[in-house]
Amino acid sequence: MNLNKLILKWYDKNKRDLPWRKTKNPYNIWVSEIILQQTRMEQGIYYYNRFISKFPNLESLATSEEKDVLLLWQGLGYYSRARNLHHTAKYIYYDLDSKFPKSYDELINLKGIGDYTASAISSICFEKKHPVLDGNVFRIISRIFGIKDPIDLNNSRKVFKKKAIELLPNSRYGDYNQGLMDFGSMVCKPKNPSCSNCFISKKCVAYKNQLVDSLPIKAKKNKIKTLYFEYLAVNNNNKILIERVEDGIWKNLYQFPVNISTSKKNKTEIRKIFIDKFNLETLDFKLINSEYIEHKLTHIIIKSNFWFTNEKIDIDEGVFTTILEDYPMSKLMHKFIEKYRSKLAYSEVKMVN
Ligand code: SF4
Repeated sequence: MNLNKLILKWYDKNKRDLPWRKTKNPYNIWVSEIILQQTRMEQGIYYYNRFISKFPNLESLATSEEKDVLLLWQGLGYYSRARNLHHTAKYIYYDLDSKFPKSYDELINLKGIGDYTASAISSICFEKKHPVLDGNVFRIISRIFGIKDPIDLNNSRKVFKKKAIELLPNSRYGDYNQGLMDFGSMVCKPKNPSCSNCFISKKCVAYKNQLVDSLPIKAKKNKIKTLYFEYLAVNNNNKILIERVEDGIWKNLYQFPVNISTSKKNKTEIRKIFIDKFNLETLDFKLINSEYIEHKLTHIIIKSNFWFTNEKIDIDEGVFTTILEDYPMSKLMHKFIEKYRSKLAYSEVKMVN
């Protein structure tokens, strides 16, 4: 039996019961695919259900404020996904008259939709013949065919894409693509794959040659850099100053004013930085946390300190607020506020999870 038929047969018996599989509505499939990028399934289901109950359709998302979308996205990370979802929802609703594009070529031109998502939406919702190619599929193809081309090099992508196209069945493209994703998550897992119970083991080059643990191959080692974030929590008449982030991964979220550097600074240096940066005269800054609060991103470790002052400062794009929960914030900000809220000398601080 062909590989694609085996995958479809397995999928029919073993497919996961996921909330977005109850529909072929492209809006729901699109939201689920964007949420699932870089997200564990359990967390993805939780966020998907929350998102769909707040924004059940394209219109509700397109006519919402970006701040409300970011608030709902809090804790999920990679906030550009939320900004792009909102941007593209507006575009489809206002510019395309709510007509959701059906073809791969139209979909891939939308902001925030790449090869993987365009293939997933066009195949699952509209039965278009496009293979999905994500980490699962790279791994499965690499192992079954014993392909040693590093999966993180552009040239290799063509090799895997060609193979993925060859493997497509003649119908049920959406089911086949979802079957591959489930197979990669449930059987051919990154670690400890279930080879002894795998229906493909007899055809699998990696299994037959004891290469399962060494495939797929990656060429580059991720370089991790460390950044030092020195936040300044300003309490002015029982209101806390927060600023809107102008750029970067946390764009349009809110945070305490911050100084970012690539090297560790001592307390005297940090006080001087605050005085210069915020045009202050005081030396009255207290360090709140006893040791760095760490936050890990894919390529960055953030070591953060939180300082406190009652000094009056004013900054562009800043607001003094008594209700922090109305403003979307990063997980790092949440971590700090949850642990040290009493030290902000501000009893009303409440945060949503
Ligand atoms: S035998 Fe193992 S490595 Fe090969 S496809 Fe099955 S689970 Fe993956």
